[in-house]
This record gives sequence, structure tokens and C-alpha cells, in this order.
Amino acid sequence: MQQLEHVWINGEFTVAQGETYFDLYNPSCAEVTGRIRLANTEDALRAIAAAKAAFVHWSQSRVDERLAVLQRMRDAMAACQDELLRAIIQEYGAPASRSAWMASYPVAVIDQVMQDLREFAFFTTVGKAQVKMTPLGVAGLITPWNSNAGFICGKLAAALAAGCTAVIKPSEMSGLQTHVVMKALHAAALPPGVCNIITGYGAEVGEVISRHPDVAKISFTGSTQTGKAILRNAADSFKRVTLELGGKSPTIILDDADLTTAVPLAIQAGFMNSGQACIAGTRILVPLSRKAECEEALRRAVAAIKSGDPLDPQTEIGPMVSEKQWQRVQKYIRLGLEEGARLLAGGEGRPENSGQGWFVKPTLFTDVDNNMRIAREEIFGPVLSIISYRDDDDAVAIANDTDYGLSALVLGSDARRAQRIGERIASGRVQINTLAHEAGAPFGGFKHSGIGREMGRWGIAAFMEPKALIS
Ligand code: NAD
Repeated sequence: MQQLEHVWINGEFTVAQGETYFDLYNPSCAEVTGRIRLANTEDALRAIAAAKAAFVHWSQSRVDERLAVLQRMRDAMAACQDELLRAIIQEYGAPASRSAWMASYPVAVIDQVMQDLREFAFFTTVGKAQVKMTPLGVAGLITPWNSNAGFICGKLAAALAAGCTAVIKPSEMSGLQTHVVMKALHAAALPPGVCNIITGYGAEVGEVISRHPDVAKISFTGSTQTGKAILRNAADSFKRVTLELGGKSPTIILDDADLTTAVPLAIQAGFMNSGQACIAGTRILVPLSRKAECEEALRRAVAAIKSGDPLDPQTEIGPMVSEKQWQRVQKYIRLGLEEGARLLAGGEGRPENSGQGWFVKPTLFTDVDNNMRIAREEIFGPVLSIISYRDDDDAVAIANDTDYGLSALVLGSDARRAQRIGERIASGRVQINTLAHEAGAPFGGFKHSGIGREMGRWGIAAFMEPKALIS
């Protein structure tokens, strides 16, 4: 059993000062595989002080110096990819298709930030004014468990590119991944203090970071509920905030869609990362005129999906990350039945022969009304709802009738018409007949899905403030 004791502050590993340990589980067998010692308030204060001291020099660094540091960080993350892959599978059971991508994503996102930094306009002229983009200061980076290493590297690379220094508080459930990243950043010999990583509970360490007057910026990815708490805590010191929160994304299958291509995309969008993805397309909107046909195609596709051992290459859905998350998914499946939705595939309980792990059955409901709780609340598991619509206007109205606005998918044979529908959806990202990612484009949410944007030049600018020098 692995015992992880350290935080990484000012370029040095020290034993966390907290007295509490947090158990790390392998969700595929529901057994404890390790534990981490949690950092406390003193650790957080030390990390903030180190980042504040390092900001004096780092904020003045040249672009080529920042690129050199990012290159070392990128190479160190490339060197630990295999170790990271093992941690990702052990720590949250990502299935093979997903885990390989997640282990390589830190390198990809750092590469992207380096490209964006090379092209970034630090100065622009507006009439008599020279507008200079200046770094904000110490950035608090708080990440969730569902892609911990990727979020750490993406946020950190953008912060460093902007000239900010960072204090990172990863999810307490991601101790193994955090440990791999910490060792890699140490090996990359980042200038001491520009990046500090502390473990710890959100309610203690996360609160210290989001209230502290020496922290100028919070970049948070996680639940909408925690995002609200951070926004309130950050208000007193007027911190700039980027919040990447939850979603209840719509997939619209248009009445001219070819179901042989549309259904696999709809299923992939709904079940990505075992349904534990902020952008998961969990509301599938189908035309009333083709409802029975869509239901049957989607039912067959869901019934064919294998939920089980993440090491089996046939597996498309791995376990839920924790028992609490498993219970939550079960609760929503029961709720869907109580609300009057009709089950087409899956249901309560574990799939056959899946042992004691936190596995769930890929589940598909139909006859879902958009006012039902299963259509309004983020479940964060492989539970999809079919909602029927009358015409295009009705589809857009249902898609937009949600507190969230992170992502949407429109599927149809007439690409122009699909594009026009996409333009009417209130969401930070709309994909038309594709699930392709565009790393240099902004990413973030409307409404309760968040504030601000990450990725591309928008992601770097989010760690900066424009200053107008007029002469
Ligand atoms: P969470 O909100 O429970 O925790 C996220 C992080 O916040 C953890 O590090 C946690 O320790 C910390 N935290 C908790 N309370 C805090 C507080 N009071 N102050 C400061 N920090 C605090 O989220 P989770 O369960 O780890 O992740 C799942 C959620 O993340 C889902 O809702 C999902 O939609 C969302 N998510 C969003 C995106 C996006 O880009 N929009 C991406 C991935 C996940």
C-alpha cells in the first residue's frame, strides 16, 4: 500500500503538516490501495508566500525564458506518461480508450500553450494608447478528480505563460496522479516557488486559497456548487475568477439525420469518461416524427456497450470513481423511474460478473420530460435521457431550457441547417456532426456552467489584466 506524505513548496518536497490521512481507492475492486497525508492551513500559507516571492522575478521573465520552462515541463510530463497511465487507471478506473488519451493530454496541452504563447499579443496600440497585458499575480489552481493531471498542466502552463506564479490544490481523490505530476515538475527544475502543489481538503486548503488577499486569481474546475462557494469567498479580495463547472448538455438529432452515423456519436458524447465528464451529452433530443426509430437505434447501441474492467480493451465504461458517486447514480436511476421515465436499457444495480467494484449499467431512459430532475440535474454517470421535440424551434427551446451551457452536439445531414441550429444554442461549445476537439479555441460555459474561458489565447489572457499606457 502506497503512503504519500509530501507537498511540494518552493521547489522542495516536505512532509505535509496536516495530521489527517485520506484513503485512496481502486474503484474497480473498491479496495484501499494507498493513502495521502493532507496538507493544512499552514502548508497553504507557506505555498502562497513562496508563490508571492517568486512572482517578483517570474512576472518580469521574457517569453523565451517562459518557453524554456514550459519545454522542460512538457518533456518531464512526456517522460512520466506510462506512470501516469497506471495512476489514472488505478485511481479512477478510466477505460483503456480514455486513459491513454488522458495520460498523453498533459503533453498536448502544454504544447498548445507554448504555441499560443509564441503568438500572444502582449502589446497592442489603440489610438494614442499602448495596451500592455500584465500578469495578475499569484494564481490559485483548484482541480477535480476526473482529469486531474490534465487540468493541473493546462492551468499551470497558461498561468506561467502569462507570467503568474501558482499554488495548486488538486482533488484529494487524485493523490496518485498528483504525486506523479509533482515528481515530474520537480525533475523539470522549475524556478523555485513559481509552482507549488499542496494536497488537502477543499473545505480547508481550498478555502484558504480562495480567500487569501495575496492570491489574485482563482482558476477552478469542479462542481457548480463548489464554484459558487469559491465565487463568494473570492469576492472580498476582488479576485479574478475562471470557473469551469458542470453541465447537462444536449445532443440534438435532427429529422434529416442518418442514424447510422448520428447514434454512435450521440452515445460517445453521452458516455465519455464513463459518463463522468462535464461536457457529456446526457440529454438526447429526438424528433417526434422519428421517435420510435431513434429509440430503437439508441437502445441497441447502449445495450451493446460493455461496462466493466478498465483494463479490458473491449470496455467502454469503467467504474464510478467512488462509492458515493455509485450511490448517486443509483439514486438518479430510481428517481427517473419514479418520475415516470421509461427504461430502455440498463437500470439499477451492477452489471453481471462485475464483482464488488463501483460499476453501473449503462442506462437509457425515454419519455423524459425536460422538467424531470433526471433532465435538469448533473448525474455524472452513464445515464442518458431521450426527450422528444416537435420541430427545430422546439428542439432549440428544450436545448436551452437548462441552468447549464457548457457543450452541445447537433447531428443532421444538412450541415448548414445544423450549423444554424447550433448558433442558437446558449453554450460555450457547439459541435456539429463531430466530437473533434479544437485545442486552440476557447473552452468554458454559459450560465451555471461557469465564468470565463480556458484554452488558446483566451486561456492565457485570463491570467492577465490589460493596462493602457497613454502618451
Ligand atoms: P468538486 O467541486 O467536489 O471538487 C473540485 C475541487 O474543489 C477539489 O479539489 C475539491 O477539494 C475542491 N473544493 C471543494 N470544496 C471547496 C471549497 N469550499 N473551496 C475551494 N475548493 C474546494 O468537484 P469534483 O467532484 O472533484 O469534480 C466533478 C465536477 O467537476 C462535476 O460537476 C463536473 O461537471 C465538474 N467538471 C467541470 C469541468 C469543466 O471544464 N467545466 C471539467 C471537469 C469536471
